[in-house]
Amino acid sequence: MKERLYLFDTTLRDGAQMNGVDFTVQDKLKIAVLLDDLGVDYVEGGYPGANPTDTELFADERKLNATFTAFGMTRRPGRSASNDPGLVQLLDAKADAVCFVAKSSDYQVRVALETTPEENLASIRDSVRAAKARGREVLVDCEHFFDGYKEKPEYALACAQAAYDEGARWVVLCDTNGGTLPHEVEAIVGAVTARIPGDHVGIHAHNDTEQAVANSLAAVRAGARQIQGTLNGLGERCGNANLISIIPTLKLKGDFAERFEIGVSDGKLKNLAHASRMLDEMLNRAPDRHAPYVGESAFTTKAGIHASAIAKDPKTYEHVAPETVGNRRKLLVSDQAGRSNVLSELERIGLTVNKDDPRVGRLLEEVKAREARGYAYEAADASFELLARRMLGRVPNYFDVTRFDVTVEQRINAKYERVTVTMAVVKVKVGDEELISAAEGNGPVNALDLALRKDLGKYQRFIGGLKLTDYRVRILDGGTEAVTRVLIESEDETGERWITVGVSENIIDASFQALMDSIVYKLVKSGAPA
Ligand SMILES: [Zn+2]
Repeated sequence: MKERLYLFDTTLRDGAQMNGVDFTVQDKLKIAVLLDDLGVDYVEGGYPGANPTDTELFADERKLNATFTAFGMTRRPGRSASNDPGLVQLLDAKADAVCFVAKSSDYQVRVALETTPEENLASIRDSVRAAKARGREVLVDCEHFFDGYKEKPEYALACAQAAYDEGARWVVLCDTNGGTLPHEVEAIVGAVTARIPGDHVGIHAHNDTEQAVANSLAAVRAGARQIQGTLNGLGERCGNANLISIIPTLKLKGDFAERFEIGVSDGKLKNLAHASRMLDEMLNRAPDRHAPYVGESAFTTKAGIHASAIAKDPKTYEHVAPETVGNRRKLLVSDQAGRSNVLSELERIGLTVNKDDPRVGRLLEEVKAREARGYAYEAADASFELLARRMLGRVPNYFDVTRFDVTVEQRINAKYERVTVTMAVVKVKVGDEELISAAEGNGPVNALDLALRKDLGKYQRFIGGLKLTDYRVRILDGGTEAVTRVLIESEDETGERWITVGVSENIIDASFQALMDSIVYKLVKSGAPA
């Protein structure tokens, strides 16, 4: 019989403390559904009363399988629970559980809270009692627990004990400043679980020494049975413990997988990469390619000998199978690549060629020659696919851009403001049809992109959902002339993302190549007829 470990997500509360993160109520609801679907046990929505968004979020019942949790402070020193407006508002919130934050360090109580250690203990007891009386499940986040324990262990333990004795379901030990190391966490949590049963103890780790995940696992080893964290490690400063790394570790790594079970099923684990990318999508930031388990590069192999070994047996260079977390294996086609890389990539794309086909050798030579000129096919998988398909004669000539023209004009407008206006005109031939489109944009590439995608005649319906999500420029200082490399990331209505590349001495021309590849890739992918 496996022991149950509980996952508590605080993306919407602690994660929202990160610089540049600003969730609307709609964003929060979407993320809550995502977490619920994944199988997380607790979703902490926010801090009702602290801001209008969180107050609104807790104004209505949110029907989740997960325990929907409101966060707030214990009663203020010197007041009764019923006479503290903040606490009253928290208890009125429509939530299944209440998570109180309480000080558990003698030093913090005296300096930050300016009250006595005894009054702080009374505040914990009164607040837990008040929330239980309202029928809520109660959690107490013991703030600064580890630092407090190091200074004065009896007092930190007394705070945890007060919460537990009063009936809190979970006493959560917080490494608020994030400076505690895994061996310290294991020892201190061990001291706590000697007094309070581990199935009532949680861990809340911050990532200030990049060990929030390790600290969470150390706490579990010492007996804690709830882990708090966030999607993609979102959070203040360096972030919180990353549930996207913790979940697969608990599910796939022997020591944990054999002893424990969590609410995330094997089937749902396959949605992990998707959940991670969805969050980045909502934050409008490019996913971390090197994120463990779920990053684009997490199962990407470049070196030739590694790649040929992986082709024989993936276990040779992979710690887990990428499909288990919804990711995929990727063998890079680059300078160092041999025939085996090219063949594996062709197979993944779904192009079957005989391994002795002379076109494979020609493709490899072409890739090498282009990479010497600045193309980066290891990043631009969609451009590689088009190159491969063209060499094998399988890309229809959908349309020709016979001419384009981009103007950038700077002038003073009627309000005496300096404005820059950019316009692009594109002439396209689709079959016998000649089409001319013009568009204004907030820069030459944007204008060109808009004009190009404005009217592709009979192909327009295939590119309706196409959008540009990232644009990166690098000046390469190879040979005699500096050249510009442009990488464009696109996304379509299905959520699939791909990257295309263009290289030229001229940034507009490089951008144009990458834009064209992106559109043609989308047409191929959508099965647009020739
Ligand atoms: Zn925190």
